[in-house]
Amino acid sequence: MQTHKLLGIAMLAALSATAKPCTVDVYVVSVVSRPVGTLVYSARSQVTAMFREIGINVRMRDGNPQPDAAGPCGAPIVVRIEDSTGYDGPSEALAYAMPYHAGTVIHLFLDRVARKSNQPAFLMALLAHVMAHEIGHVLQQIARHSDEGMMKANWSGKDYQAMERKTLPFTPIDVEFIRDGLAKRFTHVAGE
Ligand SMILES: [Zn+2]
Repeated sequence: MQTHKLLGIAMLAALSATAKPCTVDVYVVSVVSRPVGTLVYSARSQVTAMFREIGINVRMRDGNPQPDAAGPCGAPIVVRIEDSTGYDGPSEALAYAMPYHAGTVIHLFLDRVARKSNQPAFLMALLAHVMAHEIGHVLQQIARHSDEGMMKANWSGKDYQAMERKTLPFTPIDVEFIRDGLAKRFTHVAGE
């Protein structure tokens, strides 16, 4: 534990010396036929605020990125708001992320999110958490979860209740992995 902690501090020190701040562009596109504007827009601004809390700049953009849209923070991230029709993965999954030729697409199942509640405030908070969780995975670039908070594998009833009042936090180790992943993305783009 002690070693791990020390390593973390060393990693952070090394990163802060090399990583320049960059803005992560996230393109949001809805392919569901019903109007989702207000819900999605409110969730988007909450996601930006969630990442601002941990010192990461996330800019939400409309539509699909240009084919060569890699910015200073690396390849584009697309959030596709869709329904789960035809998806044959786990029945409880609210979203999943897949690499594509130019970046990563997060598929977010609006029908499954909506089934969790009919309270607009809760739905907005849940949508924002699901979006931020998946963007967290993409930025960390490794398959891992935390025991608590935003990057927990399965949120409990208590977590669902809490997220309506207050954002579930990224743990310090989540933040380290995000910074580490971002530094790699930045170096990759800079080296091209
Ligand atoms: Zn996850």
